[in-house]
Order: sequence, then C-alpha cells, then structure tokens
Amino acid sequence: MSESTERRHRVVIVGAGFGGLFATKALRRADVDITLINGTAYHLFQPLLYQVATGILSEGEIAPPIREILKRQRNVDVRLGWVTDVDVDAKVLSVEAPGIEYEVGYDTLIVSAGASQSYFGKDEFADHAPGMKSIDDALELRARIFGAFELADLQTDPAEIERWMTFVVVGAGPTGVEMAGQIAELAHRTLPGQYRHIDPRKARIILVDAVDAVLKTFGDRLSTRALRQLHLLGVEVELETMVVGVDATGIEVDTKRGHQRIESMTKMWAAGVAAPALSRRLAEVTGAPTDRAGRIKVEPDCTVPGHPEIFAIGDMMALDDLPGVAQVAIQSGRHAAGQIKRRLAGKQTGQKFSYFDKGSMATISRFSAVASIGKLHLSGFLGWLIWLAVHLLYLVGFKNRVTAVLHWAVSFLGRGRSERVATFQQAYARAAVRAYGDPFERRKEEATAGSKHG
Ligand SMILES: Cc1cc2nc3c(=O)[nH]c(=O)nc-3n(C[C@H](O)[C@H](O)[C@H](O)COP(=O)(O)OP(=O)(O)OC[C@H]3O[C@@H](n4cnc5c(N)ncnc54)[C@H](O)[C@@H]3O)c2cc1C
Repeated sequence: MSESTERRHRVVIVGAGFGGLFATKALRRADVDITLINGTAYHLFQPLLYQVATGILSEGEIAPPIREILKRQRNVDVRLGWVTDVDVDAKVLSVEAPGIEYEVGYDTLIVSAGASQSYFGKDEFADHAPGMKSIDDALELRARIFGAFELADLQTDPAEIERWMTFVVVGAGPTGVEMAGQIAELAHRTLPGQYRHIDPRKARIILVDAVDAVLKTFGDRLSTRALRQLHLLGVEVELETMVVGVDATGIEVDTKRGHQRIESMTKMWAAGVAAPALSRRLAEVTGAPTDRAGRIKVEPDCTVPGHPEIFAIGDMMALDDLPGVAQVAIQSGRHAAGQIKRRLAGKQTGQKFSYFDKGSMATISRFSAVASIGKLHLSGFLGWLIWLAVHLLYLVGFKNRVTAVLHWAVSFLGRGRSERVATFQQAYARAAVRAYGDPFERRKEEATAGSKHG
C-alpha cells in the first residue's frame, strides 16, 4: 500500500499561543491530521497578564483550555508536553511531560514557541524580580504586590514601611507602563481606607528604563502623552537608568547622576526578550542562522532555510525586523497554514509573508490608553475605548468575554479588584522549586533510592 493511502498528511504544530492556535484554526477544513503540542494545557492571552497580577482579572479568563477551544475541530489532537528535540532527518520530535516522554512524527512542522524573558545574562535577578511571561509569573507578582501592603501594615520602623511600599518596575515598554499604571491605581483608588496603620496612597511606584523615553516604539507624541499620564498617576519615571543589581531588599541602578540604591521589597521585570530554548535547538539541528536574541532568520515564506517542511513563526522568527506582537504571530500562523494547503493542492508555494500592521496600543490607567493605528495617533478615553474593543475581540471564548467585562466594570467604573486572592505557595514556589528541584525528577530519584534500600 502506498503511503498516501495509509494516512493523511501529518502537520505537527508546536505552541498553542497566538501563532500556533491561529495556524491550527486555519487548517480546520484541510485534509490533514494535526497534532498540537503545548507546554501548558491552556492558551495564554499574554497582553492581559498584568491585569491578573494586579487583581483585575482571574487567570482563567485569559487562559482558556486549548482542548475546549478546539473541541469541534475534528482533525486536531491536542497533546500536553515540552518539545525538547527535533530529528530533522527522521522528522520526529522528542516531547517531555511530567513523568513521561514520547515522540511525535511529522510531515510538516510549524514551530511557534514564542519568546522567553531575558535578564541580559543576569538570570539571578529573576529570584527577586519576576518577569511577566506566564500565569505563574502573574500569580507570583499578585501575591508579592498585595502581600507587600499587608506586610507594610505590620511594620513599625518607617524605613521598613517605605521599603515594603516601594514598587519598582523595570522596563518602560507597554507591559512595564501598564503594570506601573495599575499598581498606582491600586494604591490610590482601591486600597485607601482598608488599612489602619499605613496610607496606601504613600506608596512609591518607580518605573525604570535604560532608554530615554517611555513607550519609545509608539513615537514622540504618544510617548510624551504617556509620560504625562504616568506623572498624573504619581508614578516616578527614571529614564536613562540602567539596572545593575537586584537583591531581596532593593535594586541598584546607574544613572546620569551616578550609582544609586532603591530600597524596595517588590520588583518586577518587564524588559528584554530572548528566543525560547526550542528556537536555539532548531537552529542547531538545521544550521539556520539566528539574530542576537536567538530568533531564527527564516526565509521570506517563514520556512527554516534548507527545510521547506519546517515553518518557524511568531515571536521566534526573525524576518524584516517585524516586532514580537500578537498580530505578527496570528498572520504568520495563517500564512504557514495557507502554504500547507497550497502544497497539498499541488499549487506553487514559497510566497512571501506580507504583514499588515493593524497598529499597537497600551493602557496607562482606567479610561486612558495610547493607540497608534497607521497615521492615527489616539490617546486618552478614545484610545482606551479602542483598547477595550480590540481586547474583547481577541479574548478567546464568549464566557471569558462576559466575565472580563464584569470584572472591568468592577475595577474601572467602581474601585474594586475582584481577584485579590494570593496564596503563600504562589509567593514562594519559585524559590522552593529552585531549592528542591523539579518535583517529578525528584520523585523518580526518591523512588529509585527507596527501591535500592528496600
Ligand atoms: C506581558 C506581555 C504583554 C504583551 N502585550 C501585547 C500587546 O498588548 N499587544 C501585542 O500585540 N502583543 C503583546 N505581547 C506579545 C504577544 O503576546 C506575542 O507577540 C505573542 O503571544 C506571540 O505569539 P507566539 O505564538 O509567537 O508565542 P506565544 O503566544 O508566546 O506562544 C508560545 C507557546 O509555545 C509554548 N511553548 C514554548 N516552548 C515550547 C516547547 N518547547 N514545547 C511545547 N510548547 C512550547 C508555550 O507554552 C506557549 O503556549 C505581549 C507579551 C507579553 C509577555
């Protein structure tokens, strides 16, 4: 029997973020068998992580289960696991999930593994300044932010109170600006009147960046407006300031005025991205060139050089200086799917991926956002309305949209935060995992040691 009568073309998609999910959906009616492999069981809407960290939204609202999203798409098999290796000759992926390893074969591979946080070679900063890439990060930050006010309320030494009530956000791009704005709103609108020993309005929120402008990629006009809005919210903005040290109780910076230490128990990192581990591995095994961040320099059609059967898309591809944003991932995912459909139909392939820039936006506080859409530069309430509409449009699932709107009403029309629960484990798990090691590896070791002694 020939191969084609035995089975359908196998498309394996790694990553169920924006790129992977939209590629999968675009192959809905294609005559292929899709295996979608993702490191978590949910699709993460990263642009709203900061709202989970600051108690506005629940984690479920921005992270719906992948198999629920795709339950009606019969040609897809969703599998949990981290792809650790690619055998490009045998066309087989090695995958690991807790306590189990398996392999998956492919005919065409789409890799959309996103980006990871970069601490510019100082990974030890992560212990004291969590990044903002995952649900774990957001919940840890939520625990640290709300915990800081609780612990400040218990202190008697004014220096200790100030240290607990000083929040430093590193990175003045959209995520850093949104985080700083929301902590300021928390301190000035939500928490006042709830503590008997501290005044939350005295909290210092410091936004630090090595560059000379906030939201630099949005252009001078919107950047200046965003800066003004941050000042109105009481955020201290320290530009041309380089972070050179982070420890448990503070942060060390080099500024034009010289070296300085800021005493702060709560720091967060919203600066710098690097390619994920899988991008580097794929580059190694295919010999593909990478840029400085480790992203794969793909061909114009998003394929890996020398491997027309492998597409690298989204944040992990380097092509025409395209930014690491959701629309690039979505459109490159659809492009890869389109190429596969053309190939299967016997049509000519290799068409260049052309990106349609739909603009970018960032919120600063309730009712205030900046939006850059083509030649249109909007700020204030109008910018915020557009932000609201776009986020509702792309938030996955009707149920999530409804509950998100309710939570936004609670926070933006009222003064509340619906999601203030933070557990001890959320605050300390990072340190515990680092000290204890991978729990599954550890259990295996303990079981082996037990059987040797038994
Ligand atoms: C805090 C934050 C705020 C942002 N705000 C905006 C915004 O306002 N507007 C905007 O346009 N963009 C924003 N972005 C960027 C946007 O989220 C990304 O550009 C987009 O998610 C990229 O899609 P992707 O598919 O390339 O990767 P991702 O969406 O990151 O998805 C990658 C997926 O791959 C999985 N994965 C990774 N490695 C492996 C592996 N080895 N094996 C299996 N699975 C793996 C991950 O679990 C993840 O699900 C933001 C990003 C962050 C972090």
